[in-house]
Amino acid sequence: MDFESPLHIDCPAQIKKCPVVEELVELRAECRRLQEMIRRDTLTGYFNFRYLLEALSDEMERTRRTGLPTGLIMIDIDHFKQINDTFGHEMGNKALKWCTQIWRTNIRRIDIPCRYGGEEFAIILPSTRLAQAVRAAERLRLAIAATPLAIGDVQVTLTASFGVDVYTAKETLEPKEFITRADTFLLNAKEMGRNCVRYPGEGIEPASTELTQEEREALFPKR
Ligand code: GH3
Ligand code: MG
Ligand code: MG
Repeated sequence: MDFESPLHIDCPAQIKKCPVVEELVELRAECRRLQEMIRRDTLTGYFNFRYLLEALSDEMERTRRTGLPTGLIMIDIDHFKQINDTFGHEMGNKALKWCTQIWRTNIRRIDIPCRYGGEEFAIILPSTRLAQAVRAAERLRLAIAATPLAIGDVQVTLTASFGVDVYTAKETLEPKEFITRADTFLLNAKEMGRNCVRYPGEGIEPASTELTQEEREALFPKR
C-alpha cells in the first residue's frame, strides 16, 4: 500500500459508487491511520524512537544533498523522579504532557519532536545552523522554567536540561552516533547544574531568544 497515494480516486470503469473503489479508499485511510499510530507516542503525541531514527536518517541525507546542517536538541526533564514521588505517577504523566505541549508551540512546523524515552525528548531541526538551534533550545528552556505547573494548590516549577548539536554535510556519521554526540552535551548540561543549554563551541553566544519574523511565521499555529 502506497501511503502517499491520494485518498480519493476515480473508478477506471467510470462506475458511480464503485464498491471496489470505496473499499480501496477506506483501506488507504485505515493504512494512514495505522501508520500514524505506529509513529507516535500515545502519551505526548510526539513521534516515537523508531520514527526519530527514520526521520533523522532522512534529514541527514538531505544535509548531504543540500549542504544545510541538521540540528538536534536532546532534552531531559530535571529531577523528574521527584514529581512522581511527590505527586504520583498520574501527575507525572500530566507534567510530561504539559511540557511537551509547551515545547510544541515553540518549535517550527517543520521541526520533528520525538519522545526519546521516559522523560527524555529529541527535536530534529531540519536545515538549521548551530546558532539557530541553540537559540531554539534556549527558548524551550525558558518556556518551561517560566511557567509553573499548577498541581492542586501547589505551583511546581519544572526545568529541563538541553544538549544541542548539528550534523554537517562533510561528516560521516550514523543517526545513532549523531544522537550519542548530542547526548554528551545534554550530560554536560546535567553536570553543569541542570536547567541550561550546552552545545559545541563555547564561544557561540545564543543571541536573543526573541523570535525573528521568519521564525514566528514558521511556528505551529496556536490552538
Ligand atoms: P535528572 O535531573 O538527573 O534527569 O533526574 P531525574 O529524576 O529526572 O532522572 P531519573 O532518571 O532518576 O528519573 C526519571 C524518572 O522519570 C523515573 C521514571 O519513573 C520517570 N518516568 C519515565 N517515564 C515516565 C512516564 O511515562 N510517566 C511518568 N509519570 N514517569 C516517567
Ligand atoms: Mg532521564
Ligand atoms: Mg530527568
